[in-house]
Amino acid sequence: MDQLIPDYLADLLDGVRDNNEGELPTYIPILAEANPDWLGVTLCTMDGNLHSAGDDDVEFTIQSVSKPFAYALALQTLGLDAVSEVVGMEPSGEAFNAMSLEEEGNRPDNPMINAGAITVNQIINGTGSTVEDRVEVIREFFSRLAGRELEVDEVAVEGEMAGADRNLSLAHMLRSFDVIADEAHDAVLSYTRQCSIKVTIKDLAVMAATLANGGVQPVTGERLLDEEVCHQSLAVMASCGMYDAAGRWMARVGIPAKSGVSGAVIGMLPGQLGAATLSPRIDVNGNSARGVKIFEALSKDMGMHLMSTENRAGSQAVRSITHNGEETIVKVQGLVNFTGAESILRVLSEYDFEDGRVVLDVSNLIESNKMGRRMIKEAMRRLRDEGHDIAVIDPDSELKHRLMDDGEQIPLKK
Ligand code: GLU
Repeated sequence: MDQLIPDYLADLLDGVRDNNEGELPTYIPILAEANPDWLGVTLCTMDGNLHSAGDDDVEFTIQSVSKPFAYALALQTLGLDAVSEVVGMEPSGEAFNAMSLEEEGNRPDNPMINAGAITVNQIINGTGSTVEDRVEVIREFFSRLAGRELEVDEVAVEGEMAGADRNLSLAHMLRSFDVIADEAHDAVLSYTRQCSIKVTIKDLAVMAATLANGGVQPVTGERLLDEEVCHQSLAVMASCGMYDAAGRWMARVGIPAKSGVSGAVIGMLPGQLGAATLSPRIDVNGNSARGVKIFEALSKDMGMHLMSTENRAGSQAVRSITHNGEETIVKVQGLVNFTGAESILRVLSEYDFEDGRVVLDVSNLIESNKMGRRMIKEAMRRLRDEGHDIAVIDPDSELKHRLMDDGEQIPLKK
């Protein structure tokens, strides 16, 4: 039984192993020397369980997969308004290293293309920061996301800097429009060092899972980011994470994702899991050729697509209404989000409660969200205001503090 998920992941890798599409990138020397056959996949759940197959211990440079995390760090420390002053959130429809800025204003279109990522890197630790201090803040933050000390690959930095003309010209352009303050060389060095932090797909799966988990690192339990920050970073990845292929990706895989030129892809199913793949051959869109195939299969097999209409919730949310002496016991079940709570409220409002106590039994809830909880607590408050005695059966504290909008607490049934 233990082997079920790893066996499935191993089969998934076997399904793409013979695919030789794509090329190793040559413009960064260390990537040209990578083993093209590396192939791996790791999943990390919201309770920090890791499931892997293939090359999950190989270290490689994070490259563009660093961008959503650096963006999240900037949002966390500076806030959305300040970050939005320097970088937008619209897909550019151009290559990752295009010389593009928004038509109106001088902002790069989004933080997932190089112009945007160089700009975001610049504002971390304040625009007056040295390159060294800034990269240290980023390295430290990425290490906490991964749950281990990560390091910068100095050989990778040196090799990329030797041929960084395109990124240097981007930095000159950004500086000429006063988007960044650093000398072009320093700005590119800082960004290149960010891209050269070494990770494995196990690290990336945990880092991705932290975003999917609303900012709590699922293995260490440390809160590293606010929910809204994760939401923002995931949303921007959904439209801009997979370069020119972002539209196709959203249609076929359907989850926020980010790829990098070293062959990694991360994908996040919000509230459920983080996933990472490694396969170094890159397709014409700049994405790992086999990585894309693995995610397509994962999404299909596991029903991960966010637009899937299969995950209907709550049409049978009231399981039973029974009587016990003076008490009416309403047992609810399943997933209580807005839709689930709506169906509970409908049944409660149509039911003819006799005088006496109304007891809501939530012990069969699989899950609830804030909205769902608020709605059912509000329904209880109204029943109380209509003159009923109210109570809940809630052994797993599904209703958290049980506080209603008026500040009163719904009593537990003794
Ligand atoms: N450091 C790389 C560059 O800026 C990252 C590109 C990528 O991963 O797509 O060219």
